[in-house]
Amino acid sequence: MNYPVIKLQTNRPYQICKCCVMDTTDEDIVFDENGVCMRCNEYKERIEPEWNHGRGHEQELNTLLTEIKKKGEDKDYDCILGLSGGLDSSYMLHLAVKEWGLRPYVFHIDAGWNLPVAEENIKKLTDKLGVELHVEHMDWNEMREMQLAWFRTGLEMLDAPQDHAFIALIDKLSKELGIKYILNGYNICTEVIADPSSWEKGAGPTGDGTYIRDVVKKYCRIPIKNYTYTSGLKHKFINPYIRGVKTVKPLNYVEFTRESMIKTLSDEYGYVPYGQKHFEDLLTKFLEGYWQPTRFGHDMRRAQLSSLVITGQISRETALEILSHAPLNEDESEQLFKEVASKLEISEDELMHYHELPECSIRFKSQEHLYKAGIRIFELLGLEKRIRK
Ligand SMILES: [Zn+2]
Repeated sequence: MNYPVIKLQTNRPYQICKCCVMDTTDEDIVFDENGVCMRCNEYKERIEPEWNHGRGHEQELNTLLTEIKKKGEDKDYDCILGLSGGLDSSYMLHLAVKEWGLRPYVFHIDAGWNLPVAEENIKKLTDKLGVELHVEHMDWNEMREMQLAWFRTGLEMLDAPQDHAFIALIDKLSKELGIKYILNGYNICTEVIADPSSWEKGAGPTGDGTYIRDVVKKYCRIPIKNYTYTSGLKHKFINPYIRGVKTVKPLNYVEFTRESMIKTLSDEYGYVPYGQKHFEDLLTKFLEGYWQPTRFGHDMRRAQLSSLVITGQISRETALEILSHAPLNEDESEQLFKEVASKLEISEDELMHYHELPECSIRFKSQEHLYKAGIRIFELLGLEKRIRK
C-alpha cells in the first residue's frame, strides 16, 4: 500500500514567521514588514502583558478557589473536571485536588478510541488522589457510524463526534448535578496559538449541535438515537448567563512549563508521557499524525510548537528541527492506518478512498456566525485568552 503525501495547492510563495514557526500552510497568515506573523504580534501586545507567564495571579486564584468552595460547600462536588488522560487535564486534576483542595466530579468519555497509555494514566492519577472516576461509555455502534459519516464528508476536522460529545456531557452533568463550576484545562502556556481556522474549513464549531445534526442527517446511514447533543445557545449562553455555570481556566493563574507539568506528573504518579499532544487517543493520533499532514499538508505540531516557542519554552531552532521529521514514521503510519480501518470495520481501501476524496464543498448548517461574533466580543472585552485566526 502507498501512503501518498499531498502537496499544498497554493499560489502563494512560501514564507515562515521569523519569530514562531507558523507559515503559509495557514493560507490566512499575515506578516508584518519584519516578517513576524500576526499571532506573534498579538501575543506580545494582548496576551503576554496580562498573563505574565502565570506570575502574579495569586489573588485572582485565591478569590476563585474560595468562591468555588463556598458555592459547593453543601454539595458532594464543587466543580466538574473532564479527564482525557492527556497532559493538561491530568495536571489540572493534580492541582485541583492536591494543591487547591477542590472536590471535582471527575468524568471521562470512552468514545471507543482510548489508547492504553491514556487509560493507565487516568487510573494512576485517580487511584493516588483517591477520586472516584465516572466513565461515560458511548454507544460504539453509533460512534463508529458518526465517525464514518465525518470521513465521508471530506472535511479536515474529523474528531467532531467525540469532541461534541464531551461538550454536551459537561452541559448535561452541570445541570443534573447542580454544579456551578467547570474546570477547563485550557492554558496559554502550551496552547496560546490555536489551530488556524483555515485548517478547519467547512467544519462548524465543535459545540454547535446544528452543524453536528446536519452532518449526521446527510451522511449517517443508520439512525443516531443515543447520542447527546448540545447547542451553541445552551453552551455559550444559557449555561453561563442564565444558569450561572462558569467555565474557568485556572491553569492560567499559575506558573509552569510543559516540561515541569510532565515532571510533576511522572514523579508523583508514574504518569507516562505519550509524545505529541493528542496522541493519547487512537483517532486523534491518526488524524493529527497521519491524515491531516498527508491529505491536507497541515502539521498540527506547527501551532503547538509555536506556542512553546513564543512563550520561551523551546527555541525556534528546536521547533524547526522537530518539524523537519514527519510526526510518525512510515511503519507507525502503516500500523495506525490498519488499526483505524479495522476499528471502523472498513477495508483499508475504503479508508484510502476517503483520504483521496476531493475537499468538502458542502456548506453544512451551522451557527458559526454567532460563534464568531461571540469570540470578537470576548476579544474586545479582553476575555479571550487564545489567539484564534
Ligand atoms: Zn509568528
